[in-house]
Amino acid sequence: MGMYVAGIDIGGTNLKFGIFNERGIRLYMRVLRSVPGQPDATADQIAGLIKASPIRVSMIGIGVPGTVFKPSGEVFSGNLRWPGVKFGKMLEEKIGLPVWMDNDAQAALAAETLPGGSCFGLDTAVYLTLGTGIGGALLIGGRPWRGHDNAAGELGHFVTHAGGLKCACGMKGCFEMYASAGALARLSGGVRARSVIDRVRNGDERMHEALKAYAAEVALGICSLYMIFRPQAIVLGGGVSAAGDILGNEILSAIPEGYNFTREDIQKAFRFATRGNDAGMAGAAKLAVLNLIKENA
Ligand SMILES: [Zn+2]
Repeated sequence: MGMYVAGIDIGGTNLKFGIFNERGIRLYMRVLRSVPGQPDATADQIAGLIKASPIRVSMIGIGVPGTVFKPSGEVFSGNLRWPGVKFGKMLEEKIGLPVWMDNDAQAALAAETLPGGSCFGLDTAVYLTLGTGIGGALLIGGRPWRGHDNAAGELGHFVTHAGGLKCACGMKGCFEMYASAGALARLSGGVRARSVIDRVRNGDERMHEALKAYAAEVALGICSLYMIFRPQAIVLGGGVSAAGDILGNEILSAIPEGYNFTREDIQKAFRFATRGNDAGMAGAAKLAVLNLIKENA
């Protein structure tokens, strides 16, 4: 009999629960409304899902929109309203199975390294989620890059506009303030990111100008990240990436020439995430296998 792993993606709206075999194929899925601000109730939801599942799992991987500090295990998440919750330990005690907690961008990147993903077989990659904020994750030497306390990868918080807009992180002028979905809404005069894209598709010239200005901001960040990491892939995920080529083409045409890279270098590295809705679950399951089996070996 094979080994089965639960991969869970806890967002501010939904809790997605999937069971995967060792080849990363999903065999079972359930979706519940998440209960932000109530970690205990969230652990009960997961315990209930495990109990009700027709497949017995041997471990659990969880991705959350926030920072998972190690070794303390404290999870800080604004979206989930978890102010330093030791959720992994809490859940392990409740269900008696090993739990691996991770950041959701790390999980999304791990999913992209599975067969069929945009980073399958790659050694070095940069993953950016362009959503309400900007999340990030790094693959270096074929492994997730974690930093000393597991909090690495906050790619929304390098400064692209010194002295610019004040960011929630405490600095001014962060990339996130200029290249998130919120920034696109600001550049378009308050139109939501998704509507901006729709209007551009319908030939709205003013929205096209806003999208161009936004794409130039994204391109600036991508160039910096390319020079720092020299990745084989720079992957765009998150809500804004659903715009696809209409955004991708504007970003690529905003790449400046004359640095220590060519537009073709970036063109070659640039890609959209290919795993859809199940990326968070699949990646969390993969990270559980990577980390828990190694830990127990
Ligand atoms: Zn910031």
